[in-house]
Amino acid sequence: MANFKDYKIATIGSHTALQILKGAKDEGFQTICICEKNRKRPYESFKVADKIIEVDSFKDFFKIEDQLIKENAIVIPHGSFVAYLGAEKVKSVRAMHYGAKGILEWESNRNKEREWLLDAQIPMPKLFKSPEEIDRPCIIKFHGASGGKGYFLANTPAEFHERFKVYEGKADHNDYVIQEYIVGVPVYTHYFYSRLTGELEIMGFDKRYESNADSIGRIAAKDQVDADIRTTYTITGNVPLVIRESILPQMFEMGERVIESSRKLVDGGMFGPFCLEGIIDPELNYYIFEISARIVAGTNPYIHGSPYTWLRYNEPMSTGRRLARDIKMAIEAGKIEAVLG
Ligand code: AMP
Ligand code: AMP
Repeated sequence: MANFKDYKIATIGSHTALQILKGAKDEGFQTICICEKNRKRPYESFKVADKIIEVDSFKDFFKIEDQLIKENAIVIPHGSFVAYLGAEKVKSVRAMHYGAKGILEWESNRNKEREWLLDAQIPMPKLFKSPEEIDRPCIIKFHGASGGKGYFLANTPAEFHERFKVYEGKADHNDYVIQEYIVGVPVYTHYFYSRLTGELEIMGFDKRYESNADSIGRIAAKDQVDADIRTTYTITGNVPLVIRESILPQMFEMGERVIESSRKLVDGGMFGPFCLEGIIDPELNYYIFEISARIVAGTNPYIHGSPYTWLRYNEPMSTGRRLARDIKMAIEAGKIEAVLG
């Protein structure tokens, strides 16, 4: 039987690296963290990395890639990996890569993402082709906006043009979408799908803690107007969440449909962790505005497992650990290709 100890688990030091490396260690793997020089302290302090490889910038990933290949390391992609390298560059990674690389291109392009989700019959907020069509509260999102920063809201075409002025002339200012703003509560659903077991698991839920959106309610409406506060959605953290139990069947079905539809997009389909991100309105409709086809940072509160993983596993099971276990099972079954892509 192949020995999983001949393999190492590597990722870049940000986003979900603590959880991924801790989970890998709990499963018995040696771990490697690729760190920007001034950002390595947590990975040393929390003792999750057996080895730290320093780079000046995450973009230098390709300069140290041969080292990872020599170490027989399997690279785990996450939000920062995709954000700093770009979905296109991720495709040229030569080191062993966990998860279907091709799918990252579908999740990181808004048009492709929409095509995929609509094919899976996932309800999505309405899209407006031009500012003149705005007839209800809308959220304007710039492509590649880092973590929701710089989004703005508009209720009418006039409001759009007024608020758009500050972006005029800035790079990429023409690359935006106008989406219906859904009034409800944000819910992010964390899934895991294993090709080895053929099973879809719900790992947990979170809601995001966004600045300043999540603090505007702390001051009176009059003060908000007087201070001319504009809503932005800069992600700063994640808050754990348990949802109404009767919504769970719908969550499983949506996850299944997304997996099924992904088989038409990439060979063998998507596998591993993924997340549906959306808003539940008062009629309990779940509108999805985004899918992440990799581990999301909303799983970070559950390093010791979530209420849902505790139901299924009688041991602490984070998403990071679950994916390390998938890798371990694949190696031991002589089917490593089932987790690489
Ligand atoms: P960072 O490594 O923190 O600079 O983040 C890189 C990208 O990952 C950002 O553009 C964010 O969109 C995303 N990201 C980082 N942390 C979180 C988080 N806690 N929740 C959601 N997204 C995140
Ligand atoms: P995104 O970058 O697409 O993940 O969006 C960042 C944040 O904006 C989300 O976490 C939500 O709080 C909010 N948001 C995005 N799209 C919508 C929408 N269509 N309706 C309501 N809120 C939204």
